[in-house]
Amino acid sequence: MKARLLRATAAIESNPLEYADVTMPQPKSDEVLVRVRACGVCRTDLHVIEGELPPCKSPVIPGHQVVGIVEKQGEKAQRFAAGSRVGIAWLYRTDGICEYCRSGAENLCDNPSFTGYSVDGGYAEYIVAPQDFVYAIPEGFPDEQAAPLLCAGIIGFRSLRLSGIKAGGRLGFYGFGAAAHVAIQIARHWGAEVFACTRDVRHQKLALELGAAWAGDTYDEPPKKLDAAIVFAPAGEIVPAALKALKKGGALILGGIHMSPIPSFSYDLLYQERVIRSVANNTRQDGEDFLRVAAEIRICTHVQVFPLAEANRALNALKNDAIAGAAVLRVSN
Ligand SMILES: [Zn+2]
Ligand SMILES: [Zn+2]
Repeated sequence: MKARLLRATAAIESNPLEYADVTMPQPKSDEVLVRVRACGVCRTDLHVIEGELPPCKSPVIPGHQVVGIVEKQGEKAQRFAAGSRVGIAWLYRTDGICEYCRSGAENLCDNPSFTGYSVDGGYAEYIVAPQDFVYAIPEGFPDEQAAPLLCAGIIGFRSLRLSGIKAGGRLGFYGFGAAAHVAIQIARHWGAEVFACTRDVRHQKLALELGAAWAGDTYDEPPKKLDAAIVFAPAGEIVPAALKALKKGGALILGGIHMSPIPSFSYDLLYQERVIRSVANNTRQDGEDFLRVAAEIRICTHVQVFPLAEANRALNALKNDAIAGAAVLRVSN
């Protein structure tokens, strides 16, 4: 099968993803084989490719926002019929037995596998995945629109949950890429007011179109104090600025898997019971809950579609903030 393969980590400007012919995977007994139709491009893919996340598997096929069709089931994988449209996200498998899995926090599993990082992902014509970690994709979303729901959407949703934002609350977003442009639609649905801080004027414009009450530069202070804020950009230097924008008791949620170092800051910024919390992965329950809400409120994803062969170009564009919404690879029809 055709795949985009990473043999060694490198700067994306050197176009390190090779267009290769690789052996098609076969499903184990609890797995399904999925013919990939679309795969979202996520900033975490960039972190995998550029080596900000320590290499796990080499070579590896990146991609963890996979939408496709079940083509074949393992002997014990009867959950989805052949022909079902399904999604595969970042959390590929957990051990199911560690203290975190047993206490409902499988996102923190001690022995997890991650799609497109520790196992091959969706920048390919086929992928296998454990049926228990595969999602049904709601009808009504074309493949390309559905793909960004699987990481940008689910992680944004978990970030919103952890922010504790309520109706009438004021919520700041730092960075306005794929995750934020989905999360704002849910935050608005919940009745929160959203303030978007992002360096890119196209992203500011998109935020206003999607109902932000205000949009400004990353370091502009929003006009009102915030109950909570989510930092989507992988830039630790934003943390003090975002803390400064919070009310007493406010929560700052860090939505990324990788972030540049956080500079030291005055304790005053944190005092008065402000909290900082990171988000790590998601539980399957988050994914199921999010996909249900996404279908109910008809989340609209703005996507820029690239053919699989142009994965390097899509990732370069993402690195340069040149994507309005989410980048998606079209793999097959
Ligand atoms: Zn576990
Ligand atoms: Zn992702």
